[in-house]
Amino acid sequence: MRSAMPLSDEISAATPGMIALRRDIHANPEIEFRERRTAAIIAERLTAAGLTVEEGVGRTGVVGSLQGGLDGPTLMIRADIDALPMAEQTGLQFASAVDAMHACGHDSHIAIALTAAELLARRRSDLHGRVIFAFQPAEENNVGAQAMADDGFFDRYPADRVIALHISAGEPTGAVTASSGPTMAGKDTFRLTITGSGGHGAMPHLSVDPVVIAAHVVTALQTLVSRETPPNEMAVVTIGEIHAGTAGNIIPATAVMSGAIRWNSKETQKTLLDGLIRTAKGVARAMRADAEYEWLSGTPPCVNDEEVTDWMKGVAAGVVGADRVSAMEPKTASDDMSLFLSAMPGCYFGLGAAIESKPEAHAHHSPTFDIDEAAFPVGVELFMKAALDYLGP
Ligand SMILES: [Zn+2]
Ligand SMILES: [Zn+2]
Repeated sequence: MRSAMPLSDEISAATPGMIALRRDIHANPEIEFRERRTAAIIAERLTAAGLTVEEGVGRTGVVGSLQGGLDGPTLMIRADIDALPMAEQTGLQFASAVDAMHACGHDSHIAIALTAAELLARRRSDLHGRVIFAFQPAEENNVGAQAMADDGFFDRYPADRVIALHISAGEPTGAVTASSGPTMAGKDTFRLTITGSGGHGAMPHLSVDPVVIAAHVVTALQTLVSRETPPNEMAVVTIGEIHAGTAGNIIPATAVMSGAIRWNSKETQKTLLDGLIRTAKGVARAMRADAEYEWLSGTPPCVNDEEVTDWMKGVAAGVVGADRVSAMEPKTASDDMSLFLSAMPGCYFGLGAAIESKPEAHAHHSPTFDIDEAAFPVGVELFMKAALDYLGP
């Protein structure tokens, strides 16, 4: 079916439905690999729009393929779909009533990408090539893209370019941010176990106290960034968890810590990982204990391709005006969009959606997080214009 309406009218007509969909997803959030209701809705809508749909990709991911009427390249559009395990405190009518919340805006990513898929499907006969819509689960712990990769997703769905947006509650509505090169950090998560020997809190000389040693290790690790990494290199070492002991008068036998390092270059990753192991083991040995290091998970940095990013910025300038397209500040947070960007050239860009009157809504992962729905039709237009341009005549 060829649509006779101009694109902007089609998007306006679809906007109330898109907002209703976002609110429904928001009211029914699902965390990593439990996105069953969410995935079912996505699959049903993509199927109804005439896309070829595969469910259960990387456990709860959904992939929709839109084959155009003419030959050409393949564009991939990726959206993450998971919520966070936290209680919502927005007071919104459509707030979550369960212990999960769309506090990062992935509900908007679903609504925007799904609406773009539905509207592009009406124009499929004009498309030179194919659009693949990849709805990825479990982004928050950076494990969903790997699950899709393990499922053979990148082999089964080769594409020439990938684009994705992340809504930004802290940027003005409709502002687009994009930069080539590294935009989000690589990350490795790890666990350190300090093993001493337990005993009575009154006789510390008869024990090897892992609590004191863990404290020294945490302090010593601070020098990896301040003394071993070049000052102009992005590097973060965080110990976010320490567990030891059961009572104030007992010296425990072990202390367990977990944390993450963040980096943009392989050299810094190696400096931090080598330093982490050497420092933890060295400090523990000096104090008569052992330190065991376990690598838990990792994700590479998000690196935007220069050519695709320049193209996407041009598309965005046409949609929101060149004055509202600016550089994206490199972030120390991580996102497993990095696996898509490692598999093919692409651009991960930001779309502003700040509610100016609600500063408490501006922080992602906060219980009062909220976004301006007026940004959604802009997101749809960005995806559609990108697809129509790349797969145009
Ligand atoms: Zn997040
Ligand atoms: Zn997010």
